Amino acid sequence: MLIGVPQETTAGEARVAATPETVKKLVAQGHALRVQQGAGLDASVTDEAYAAAGAEIVSREVAFGSDLVLKVRAPDAQELALFKPGALLAGMLNPFDRDGLQRLAQARLTAFALEAAPRTTRAQSMDVLSSQANLAGYKAVMLAAFHYQRLFPMLMTAAGTIKAARVVVLGVGVAGLQAIATAKRLGAVIEASDVRPSVKEQVESLGAKFIDVPFETAEEREAAEGVGGYARPMPPSWLARQQLEVAKRVAQADVVITTALIPGRPAPVLVTEEMVRAMKPGSVIVDIAAPAGGNCPLTEPGRTVRKHGVMLVGETNLPSLVAADASALYARNLLDFLKLILTKEGGFALPADDDIVTACLVTHEGQVLRPG
Ligand code: NAD
Repeated sequence: MLIGVPQETTAGEARVAATPETVKKLVAQGHALRVQQGAGLDASVTDEAYAAAGAEIVSREVAFGSDLVLKVRAPDAQELALFKPGALLAGMLNPFDRDGLQRLAQARLTAFALEAAPRTTRAQSMDVLSSQANLAGYKAVMLAAFHYQRLFPMLMTAAGTIKAARVVVLGVGVAGLQAIATAKRLGAVIEASDVRPSVKEQVESLGAKFIDVPFETAEEREAAEGVGGYARPMPPSWLARQQLEVAKRVAQADVVITTALIPGRPAPVLVTEEMVRAMKPGSVIVDIAAPAGGNCPLTEPGRTVRKHGVMLVGETNLPSLVAADASALYARNLLDFLKLILTKEGGFALPADDDIVTACLVTHEGQVLRPG
């Protein structure tokens, strides 16, 4: 099969969907890899490295004109015009974007949105949300340390003692856990909150303290269980009590990392303007939920701003800031997914009863299969 790897053109996107490692493996499986000239440069991968792995370096048009196109981000209108009708596409295609899926269907693409894979053990090696959120959690702490004008670790010096930074992590999914682990490695004192009570043990095993907000009704308990491992909107009664507890911690914090997301909905507000006003001057908030509107209404997605003396980091593509490792993990996720749809003879076959393929297949034969 002819497999194309174009350069990503979304603003601020430095990742690439294949690396020399995955190119080599696909070539060994009998496929012909066509990588757009310069596709990997922003992720520190040269054309020479791709060529040495067995790829042909081609123009943008040739890469998009392949049987299967590997992308990081959903293609825009100009890119869609370059696809062959009936071509295969795999990438992070925003499965909640109904209009975007409609455009993929109109282009008659058989498209796989990898974000839609179930959070199961079998799907772990192709879980793009996890691989990228993990790096986002790490980079968020790095950005916080960069903008924070004090140190993270406690330091005893001849000139006196420096206190350890107090870090609060709100939302302890994959990104939140990595943020806790990274802040811990830097020596911070950490507290964390999540709607899912099962997270408490994980937070404590990383040496952080869980901010307990007990459930008072069956409705609260049921909502906190979520669906498929994901959070659901919590009842206002619980959110009000959570906000009280969180507000106390945020007022004491030097750094707040927010990561709370609810799939397909705007991010919940966890840090209000009033809470920001109560923070110490020089504190830093890194809002990992910025792409979904942010967990703080003062966050400006895509910008870093100072408000009420607090630095608010609204970076919307944290994985792209560590593009080399992010691409390496993403490319391996894709490679593992392709094993489910590419045959040993070098062709393509849709398995009838594979839950991962069924979940990821968003458009086929001109139809949107999983709208939103
Ligand atoms: P996510 O990015 O969807 O959300 C981040 C976190 O925000 C979640 O932990 C969520 O519970 C939390 N949150 C939502 N609303 C909140 C609120 N009001 N206050 C505080 N926290 C709030 O999460 P994710 O990292 O994608 O993980 C989602 C789930 O999938 C988790 O249960 C995770 O353990 C699970 N998971 C399973 C696998 C696997 O089994 N293969 C892999 C990865 C993740």
